Amino acid sequence: MLRPAKPDNEAERLAALRATRLLDSPPDQAFDDLVRLATTLAGTGRGAVTLVDADRQWFKARYGFDTEQTPRDESFCAHAILEPRRLMLVEDTLRDARFVDHPAVTGELGVRFYAGVPLLDGEGLPLGSLCVFDDRPGTLSGSQAEALRALARQAAHLIELRRAARELDRHMRDRDWYEQQLTQYSDLLEQQNADLAEQTRTDPLTGLPNRRAYAVALAAAIERAEREGLPLSVALLDLDHFKTINDVNGHAEGDRVLAEVAALLKSHFAGAGMAARYGGEEFAVLVPDATLEQARLQCEFLRQGIAVLPIGIVVSGSIGVAQYRHGETPGELIARADHALYRAKNAGRDRVEVDEGH
Ligand code: GH3
Ligand code: MG
Ligand code: MG
Repeated sequence: MLRPAKPDNEAERLAALRATRLLDSPPDQAFDDLVRLATTLAGTGRGAVTLVDADRQWFKARYGFDTEQTPRDESFCAHAILEPRRLMLVEDTLRDARFVDHPAVTGELGVRFYAGVPLLDGEGLPLGSLCVFDDRPGTLSGSQAEALRALARQAAHLIELRRAARELDRHMRDRDWYEQQLTQYSDLLEQQNADLAEQTRTDPLTGLPNRRAYAVALAAAIERAEREGLPLSVALLDLDHFKTINDVNGHAEGDRVLAEVAALLKSHFAGAGMAARYGGEEFAVLVPDATLEQARLQCEFLRQGIAVLPIGIVVSGSIGVAQYRHGETPGELIARADHALYRAKNAGRDRVEVDEGH
């Protein structure tokens, strides 16, 4: 018996074969059908799609026998793939030196006739063959040989198709994975954005909404007042002589005073309205559903609360109040409150002034 040689591009060929992932794969009706067609057209009792692995030939599909694989040295197809473009025809193995003492010839299978066409991949590398064989000598007519070649091309297409489908499947799974990652990232980003938005709306020293948050709330409050025809008032509170408080007690104590005043404002307007840190020692208040007089009373109450804060430092605030007028901008409303505040300062501080309009 002549052992089959290995093709020059064996390493490349094996890599291509392994890439198909067909070795040891489950049965596949499409390959079985091709083998059945091949045996029918050749009139043989047996046929197979074989894949020539490093040391074995493995049958992807077989008809007429049961062996799953054989050693490569005992493979007819290992010979066939040495001439990838040719159909290998052995009309009678007993008259062929290569196969006369071959185990498949002398053994149970008793192969006498063999015809095999190499299965080429896209690069022209032979992965195995589509073959038919029988226990009697035989031959193929020209049209039978042509049809067997055509079927071999179909088998090669099928291999490529299966490989592409698997690749696609892998891509889809990769894509799912990437999509999942992306969703996670975007959730994270959303969370970070929410945190950031929170940070940009909150004053870190006092925990009160900052000036920007106040502007947003004021715009919404004005819209609602317009829509529902309800009154709306605002107030600006500025701590008196705060520079002196800092100078006398130190900046840290000044910070503590700001935090205490902020806490008072928070509890004062919890539920209805809102207080924000508007600037350094300046706070802005939103009093919805409140007329000028109602807001003034609330602010008076607040002013007294500040004056009696039990914090070891005497502190007072001046407050200016204004009621929203139909059609006015937030800026105009705040300017009127600021004007009232200015008057409170000029009138001696520690007091509430309202803007009555002109
Ligand atoms: P007025 O009664 O006219 O309002 O006098 P004032 O001293 O309060 O006003 P002025 O605007 O001259 O000074 C405000 C001071 O508030 C100056 C600044 O150092 C202080 N200040 C502003 N922000 C902070 C802060 O975050 N912490 C502390 N400790 N002080 C602050
Ligand atoms: Mg000020
Ligand atoms: Mg001040």
